Amino acid sequence: MDRHDRERRAIEAARLTRRLTDRGVVGVALTWVDNSGVVRTKAVPVQRLERTAEWGVGASPVFDAFTPDDTIVAGRYAGGPIGDLRLLPDLNRVTVLAAQPGWAWAPVDRYTRGGEPHPQDSRGALHRAVAKLSADGLTVKAAVEIEWALRLDRKEFVPATRGPAYGFTRVVERSDYLAELLTALWDQDVAVEQIHPEYASGQFEVSVAAEDPVGAADTFVLVRETIRAVSLRHGLRASFSPKVDAAGVGNGGHVHLSVWQDGVNLHGGGDGPCAMTTTAEGFAAGILERLPALLAIGAPSVASYLRLVPGQWAAPFQACGHENRETALRFVTGSTGEERTAPNLEVKVFDQSANPYLCLAGLLFAGMAGARSGARLPPLVDVDPSSLTEQQRAERGIRMLPTSLAEATDALEADALLTEAFGAELVATIADVHRAEIARFADASPEDIAAALRWAF
Ligand code: GLU
Ligand code: MG
Repeated sequence: MDRHDRERRAIEAARLTRRLTDRGVVGVALTWVDNSGVVRTKAVPVQRLERTAEWGVGASPVFDAFTPDDTIVAGRYAGGPIGDLRLLPDLNRVTVLAAQPGWAWAPVDRYTRGGEPHPQDSRGALHRAVAKLSADGLTVKAAVEIEWALRLDRKEFVPATRGPAYGFTRVVERSDYLAELLTALWDQDVAVEQIHPEYASGQFEVSVAAEDPVGAADTFVLVRETIRAVSLRHGLRASFSPKVDAAGVGNGGHVHLSVWQDGVNLHGGGDGPCAMTTTAEGFAAGILERLPALLAIGAPSVASYLRLVPGQWAAPFQACGHENRETALRFVTGSTGEERTAPNLEVKVFDQSANPYLCLAGLLFAGMAGARSGARLPPLVDVDPSSLTEQQRAERGIRMLPTSLAEATDALEADALLTEAFGAELVATIADVHRAEIARFADASPEDIAAALRWAF
């Protein structure tokens, strides 16, 4: 960030400020996501946006070392009282918040006071991953599905709908709420593709159009906070936790990805499985191989492992299949006639305790390594892996993914490629934060874990 960058940003922000003021904005919330998947913020009055665009606002690096219940960990590379960073809003993504009158929002990149990207900034890691991808002549389109459990805003945990799974009754019951949500997302330029009641009681889901990875991670933050805000306006609360209630089906945060080259989707038109090109197959194989380590980023809470059980479409098997909802990687090919645009891969194991920037960066790093080395996929699995005996699974090369955050964290720290790609300091901090959460819940029952983390994300 040099003098010219700062001057350019100040001019752009001055223009933006006039537009925001005309629309009644008084405050701009600047957000980043920490290593526990919690969206943290500092806000500035709109009159301060110009100065903020130029110089940023201060924030301590200690935020890298927060657990989801706000305990501060004394990590190896984060957690002390020393130091200060600068939050620089992405001016291209400033959005007037439809469900929070008077407010606008922008995601930030965190810089050092010297104007260098903060080495432990997750959005920065994703920028680096995207730059690497583009050096290989590739782009990725991505989207994260958001599921949430809607509850009455009461002390007891009461579902906000009585209708059945996928039942239209739920839409009738919460018609005004859902209409206001769609309107708010439309006003904020979010391209919603679908909204529906999900399986668990009071659960809904929204899916959005795929976009560039940084945009997709920003959209994930914006959509989730919009759902939260609209819910509160209706006297409701939205839980995005992987397991809102120990006995029920959880909330996923499934990630869809497709790799493109020169405007062509590489997941179709090739000779590989599901007509994937060699590059798309390598990319998928790279992700599949590294899933145990990637879980520490994509399913990074103790509650994540309550969700990752067979039979709940959370797909805890290291396997891939064509339209198979019980394999961690599901290949989606779309309808006949859509082969040029629709095909993509879905990572089903991830959830919304994940930091979306880290999550997408991890998938890109793993995918690129697979594509570069020409990795090949194992045979696709066309049954529910849990219906096979352990021996049948072993014969097909299907392994169970880590069943605890501890196992996944060890796998991440042991992964030299991901450690190099993210940077050793960031990986150490992620591991330190996870180990503190593991210790905190060492003796907790599933019910206690679900209750403690229900409103954290
Ligand atoms: N709620 C399920 C999960 O925890 C996913 C349901 C679906 O496939 O949409 O991931
Ligand atoms: Mg779903």
